[in-house]
Amino acid sequence: MSQCFITQTATEEILLRVTNVCAQCYSDINTGDTIHYDNQRYHYVCQKCQEEYCEKMNEQCDVVEDEAGVLFC
Ligand SMILES: [Zn+2]
Repeated sequence: MSQCFITQTATEEILLRVTNVCAQCYSDINTGDTIHYDNQRYHYVCQKCQEEYCEKMNEQCDVVEDEAGVLFC
């Protein structure tokens, strides 16, 4: 598993105090959804965007646009 994200279940508190949309695709986040806190960029993203990030990240959690980036998620 990636250590770049903290996986959480969306609570009302998070939705009210932090965000109720994904920081990447701006889709709505609802209570009970699985969300991922991005330790590098300090925001929450949805499941789909987390998976997309994982495909582009190296082991240091940097987003690598190069196709040669190491896949580790
Ligand atoms: Zn998203």
